Amino acid sequence: MGNNFSIAIHGGAGTILRSTMTPALQAQYETGLQDALDTGYKILEAGGSSLDAVEAAVVKLEDFPLFNAGKGAVFNNVGGHEMDAAIMFGKGLEAGAACGISNVKNPVKLARAIMEHSPHVLLCGQGAEQFAKLQNLDFEDDAYFYIEQRYQQWQEALKEDRVQLDHSDKKFGTVGAVALDQQGNLAAATSTGGMTNKKFGRIGDSPIPGAGTYANNNTCAISCTGHGELFLRCVVAYDISCLMEYKGLSLKDACDVVVYDKLVKIGGEGGLIAIDKSGNIEMPFNSEGMYRACRNNGGRNEVLIYR
Ligand code: ASP
Repeated sequence: MGNNFSIAIHGGAGTILRSTMTPALQAQYETGLQDALDTGYKILEAGGSSLDAVEAAVVKLEDFPLFNAGKGAVFNNVGGHEMDAAIMFGKGLEAGAACGISNVKNPVKLARAIMEHSPHVLLCGQGAEQFAKLQNLDFEDDAYFYIEQRYQQWQEALKEDRVQLDHSDKKFGTVGAVALDQQGNLAAATSTGGMTNKKFGRIGDSPIPGAGTYANNNTCAISCTGHGELFLRCVVAYDISCLMEYKGLSLKDACDVVVYDKLVKIGGEGGLIAIDKSGNIEMPFNSEGMYRACRNNGGRNEVLIYR
């Protein structure tokens, strides 16, 4: 005990354009972020595990309707909600994930249950929901997930027959958390509703270990947000870990290579949050903004939206 600990969270790389953000709305986003951040931080401060901290922070973000995850998840092409989530623990590379699930109140809890109570890593759709029932996780009816603004976004996308990333400026939305605890264990979690008007069972990077979510005690913990197809192709989270492990790059240099060079070259817009085994925090993004926050035992405490 007495070691460094830190946590970072995000609420998506597709912020509402600065020109359309109002002070009142900005305050709501900041309150939601600070609340989730403090929830995770208190667990770390009390000596709890990074796994508990990232799960608790993501539950708060899932329950907060302005972010695209849990309550607030975007509508798919048939007017439903299909959510994806993953969690990973850096100590033994344990991972659990669920994709294409509906009506599960907190997808991150299902991801953790899959990690801890099944022999599998990734479960999808009805099978995953069946497992959630066996684990006595909470379900909510469709009305719980109905948010008027999301419905309007879907209607617009439907009219033009386009699949779009979250938020009014057609960008991204997802939530995530990464943390280092006092025992030196790293953990990461990500949860998303994916893209508005998505069809054919589309799944992005969020629930895929190594793409949108990754944790390894030898290197770092990462949670991504952005255009999932491009993040999948770049295997973003694992690539950052590899650059650190095999090339000896610092967390910052590894993040910079992937977010500002590799992703940009193939048109991959978005960002990520990252913490390394010493507790250093990075929150890079190549989009206009990213809802993000971080806090550590050295007194750093930031809640940010734009550059
Ligand atoms: N990466 C997520 C996805 O493609 C979306 C996001 O982060 O906004 O499903």
